[in-house]
Amino acid sequence: MSMAVAERENDAGDDTGELTDGFHLVIDALRLNGINTIYGVPGIPVTDLGRLAQARGMRVISFRHEQHAGYAASIAGYLTQTPGVCLTVSAPGFLNGLTALANATTNCFPMILISGSSEREIVDLQKGDYEEMDQLAIAKPLCKAAYRILHAEDIGLGVARAIRAAVTGRPGGVYLDLPASLLGQVMDAVKGEQSLIKVVDPAPAHLPSEAALNRALDTLKAAKKPLIILGKGAAYAQADDTIREFVEKSGIPYLPMSMAKGLLPDDHPQSAGAARSLALKEADTVMLIGARLNWLLSHGKGKAWGTAPKRFVQIDIDAREMDSNVPIDAPLVGDIASTVAALNARMSGDWEKAPSDWMDQIAAKRDANVAKMAPKLMNNAVPMDFHGALGQVKRVIRENPDTIFVNEGANTLDFARAIVDMYKPRKRLDVGTWGVMGIGMGFSVAAAVETGHPVLAVVGDSAFGFSGMEVETACRYNLPVCIVVFNNNGIYRGTDVNPTGGPDVAPTVFVKDSRYDQMMTAFGGVGVHATSTDELYRAMSEAIASRKPTLINAAIDEAAGTESGRIGNLNPQSVVGKKK
Ligand code: ADP
Ligand code: MG
Repeated sequence: MSMAVAERENDAGDDTGELTDGFHLVIDALRLNGINTIYGVPGIPVTDLGRLAQARGMRVISFRHEQHAGYAASIAGYLTQTPGVCLTVSAPGFLNGLTALANATTNCFPMILISGSSEREIVDLQKGDYEEMDQLAIAKPLCKAAYRILHAEDIGLGVARAIRAAVTGRPGGVYLDLPASLLGQVMDAVKGEQSLIKVVDPAPAHLPSEAALNRALDTLKAAKKPLIILGKGAAYAQADDTIREFVEKSGIPYLPMSMAKGLLPDDHPQSAGAARSLALKEADTVMLIGARLNWLLSHGKGKAWGTAPKRFVQIDIDAREMDSNVPIDAPLVGDIASTVAALNARMSGDWEKAPSDWMDQIAAKRDANVAKMAPKLMNNAVPMDFHGALGQVKRVIRENPDTIFVNEGANTLDFARAIVDMYKPRKRLDVGTWGVMGIGMGFSVAAAVETGHPVLAVVGDSAFGFSGMEVETACRYNLPVCIVVFNNNGIYRGTDVNPTGGPDVAPTVFVKDSRYDQMMTAFGGVGVHATSTDELYRAMSEAIASRKPTLINAAIDEAAGTESGRIGNLNPQSVVGKKK
């Protein structure tokens, strides 16, 4: 609808004469649905959208690059079950946000990417507009749903559809395309308000059938060596007490996937975390709760899973997840909160716990592994190695269990995941299903904004490089974010050399002994150069207590890492022509 039409309609109506426009309607539609924060980067045509949103009382967090605003929105969605919103400009800004949108979809995080776009009349005839691009078509294969709104009176509908699509069933990313001319469209304010939709019950409860519940309980009952695997879907569900009740009632040992760590505390007596290999190999029945049998679980078969035949029980909101890698004997298609509650209700007081010799076997292995690791974590070597440095991180998280721990890198990620215990749900945020680098600063900013808790981001020097400029964002909003860069002078290690003797360094090597801490002081934050475990511990503790944006450059032995961390097997290596 053109402005002229809007004015004519307005003249004809029996209204108050007050007008609204596309900008205000988008903002009001979001607010009506409890979305009060926008992550984004301003620019044409959405600059005023950000300004007006702030004027209306929304929190508008501007980043330096859309990818990080997108990651921030996606993790806000994970933490709150309400879609996080990322706002970008057209073509290049939109493309920068797409990585995060695709990553959100892959990880089942609810998010909405809202991008301004240029005019349909010009784009569709490819006349060459400013930042011309058919954004809707490009977004479609990378998200759960994609919509474009052309008329101001459809904004309420478009936003409602986007919200429902993001959170219902398996959560994921949604794209919402807003052509520049839509934002300026004017309509009667009363009619505009009436056109908005407050989404009722956006993620409805979903219960499996009686037969499915009984089948699952019978399968568990028959098991001699059952194992529960908790995934980030279980953490997302915010059914923490219900899940704990189920685990404890059943007496079944459990393994947390990376982001499910802390859903039950890692020092829980039924935790099999430190006996992972044994638990996977020997279990005869495996119950997956919000975890997929993808590459992170070796697709449910092969060496990691041992030779003992296994039966599988799986709770997932998405029916198509069943049998994706191995046959699922007892599928429970439903939302985790309702489904686990229904199981609990059917496990009467005399429910027989899992055989105790199995739990004892796991506990013995776990305790032995923990004891073996302990001295390594207490080493004070200078330069620090991964174990010495992470021993201090482990201590700081134990002393500050409400801290949100963000983690990315190769060795920095793999070692930290195994070493740093978590004590509370949804406190560990990391590279997720894709193992993507670059989530660090976006996740850190959003975690601080959404929860108010301090954030400790432990990141490899390479991983940090993907989002490092966002330290300015953390300083600008004065967020309680402490970044620890594990600086080993390069990717995997800093010791590679150029075999030709030429002037270029090896492709995996960075400037030696860089001072990342000075990037933080450039923007008024606290920078610390830590060369010993003692300095590292003190700096992290101070940062968490002071809540000041801090960057600690932790100097790690450049020879300490291994190629590709723990997934070197996925990195093909040439055997031809390599010198021994
Ligand atoms: P992890 O990487 O921790 O193993 P995944 O991301 O692979 O976790 O799996 C999460 C699973 O949880 C997905 O299959 C998703 O469909 C499912 N899921 C997400 N939210 C819910 C929910 N509320 N109820 C049931 N299943 C859910
Ligand atoms: Mg490194």
